[in-house]
Amino acid sequence: MKTICLRGRIQGYCTMNRPDYDKMMQSEIAALKQLKNGAKPRLLLHSCCAPCSSACLERLKDDFEITVLYYNPNIEDGEYEVRKAEQVRLLSETGWADILDCDHDSQKFYEACRGMENLPEGGARCLKCYALRLERTAEEAARRGYDCFTTTLTISPQKSSDLLNRTGEKIAAEKGVKWLHSDFKKRGGYLRSCELAREHGLYRQNYCGCEFSRMAAEARTQAKTDK
Ligand code: SF4
Repeated sequence: MKTICLRGRIQGYCTMNRPDYDKMMQSEIAALKQLKNGAKPRLLLHSCCAPCSSACLERLKDDFEITVLYYNPNIEDGEYEVRKAEQVRLLSETGWADILDCDHDSQKFYEACRGMENLPEGGARCLKCYALRLERTAEEAARRGYDCFTTTLTISPQKSSDLLNRTGEKIAAEKGVKWLHSDFKKRGGYLRSCELAREHGLYRQNYCGCEFSRMAAEARTQAKTDK
């Protein structure tokens, strides 16, 4: 009998039988440690913001020597600086990782997403946005000799870990550097990020990051007010 995955059709991929990315991460960590013969492997972790990174860093800090890459050309001006300052503060308070800061590069985001401005969150614009950020992370990881790279984005309940991992795998193959699979939502990751954000008094935004997601969030709030 042929099973058709209707949910997957919405975003053009099938969500049935998808791998357990959290388990994959755990076996990849074990393999990397074996390969390094006792030394900590070096991880370049793309971070979208301080609250999301907090639980990912806490989970990985004993297994890796971590550098956070803050590359988010999607985040609109003003908001970008606030989120970056919070990222720097979290790392200076915890000492869980170094930071590699990049230029804002917002023009790259607008070029990549041209014509997709009005698409809903989770669609083709977001795929471009993920790819843009992961490509840069992979390039830096390859250039600077990291053992692997990954992203904090899989902690978000709003983001498909499957799409993110598939994107990461493809980019890793192109750039010649290992992708560390993840699904940071698992094992209570998202709730832990909320707790850590509270403990450190971190600014937590109420929209994804680009101006299009802010306008969509504002429209949703307005619609609720108008009811
Ligand atoms: S909604 Fe979020 S993931 Fe999608 S394009 Fe905007 S910032 Fe990127």
